[in-house]
Amino acid sequence: MNVLRFAPSPTGPLHLGHAFSALTAHDRARAQGGTFLLRIEDTDRARSKPHWRAQIEDDLSWLGLTWDGPVLLQSSRRAAHLAAIEHLADAGLVYPCRCRRADIRAAVSAPQEGGPPLAGPDGIVYPGTCRNRPMSARQPEDALRLNMAKLVTHLPSDLSFRETGPDKAGTHPVDPKHLVQNVGDIVLGRRDTGDIAYHLAVVVDDAHQNVSEVTRGQDLFEATALHVALQSALGLPVPRYHHHRLIRDDAGKRLAKRDDARAIAKYREDGLSPESLRGMVGLA
Ligand code: GLU
Repeated sequence: MNVLRFAPSPTGPLHLGHAFSALTAHDRARAQGGTFLLRIEDTDRARSKPHWRAQIEDDLSWLGLTWDGPVLLQSSRRAAHLAAIEHLADAGLVYPCRCRRADIRAAVSAPQEGGPPLAGPDGIVYPGTCRNRPMSARQPEDALRLNMAKLVTHLPSDLSFRETGPDKAGTHPVDPKHLVQNVGDIVLGRRDTGDIAYHLAVVVDDAHQNVSEVTRGQDLFEATALHVALQSALGLPVPRYHHHRLIRDDAGKRLAKRDDARAIAKYREDGLSPESLRGMVGLA
C-alpha cells in the first residue's frame, strides 16, 4: 500500500514552496493509486495557530487537492512522542541539558575552536556540555537531548534509505561519523514549554500513519539520515524518500516562510487560477 503525506506546520501562510510540495506528494500518491494524508505539524506550541491551519486547508482545497481520512494533528500524538523519548531514555540514549541558546553559542565560539560553528539539521552542533549529566539530575526546565555518539553504536552497519527524488536517486547509506560530527546531540523535547522536537515527532507519526514514501524538499535531505537513525533506534520501518527541488524566488533564493508575498492567499486575492499556479511551479 502506498501512503504519502503533506505535513505542513501551521506557523504561517502556505506559500509557493509548500504548494509545490503538497502538489508533488498528492500527484505522486494518486499516480501510484495510493493514499494521500494531511498532517498538521503543530508541535511548536507558541508559533502554531488555528487560523493558519484553517488557511492551509482552504488553500489546499482551492488548489484542487483532496486528502484521505481525517487530518491528523500532531499535537494529539503527544503520548506517543513521550513514549518514544522514554524508549530512547531506557536505552541510555537521552540526557537532560540545561544549556540555553546563549551558552551553546558561547561554547562553540570559544577562540581556540576556530572557524564558524558547524550547523546541522537541528541548528548549531551541540558541543556536549551536559552530555554526562544523568537523567536523575533532570530539572523541570531542562531540554532532553539525544546522545548521538551512543546511538550510532546501536545502528546496523548497513543502515540506508532509498531515494526516488530527481537529484539523488538511489540507495544512501547512513554514515555514523557524519551523524556524530555534523548532526550531533539533537533536542528531543522540552518539558518547560511542553514542545516535542520535529525530528522525533515526524518519525513517530510517519510510522503511525504507515507512510511508505516521505515527499519533501531537498532542504531536508540532511535531516533524513537523522530520521532514519531514529527509526532504527525506535524499531520503526524506514520509508522511501523523495526529496523534490525547491521553489526559489526570482533572485534564486529559497522561499522563506516569512515571504508572505508568495503566499497562496495573495495569489488567490490577485485572481490567479489554480491551474496557472501549477504552471508557475513547473507542474502540468
Ligand atoms: N513540517 C515540516 C515543515 O513544514 C515538514 C515535515 C516533513 O515533510 O517532514 O517544514
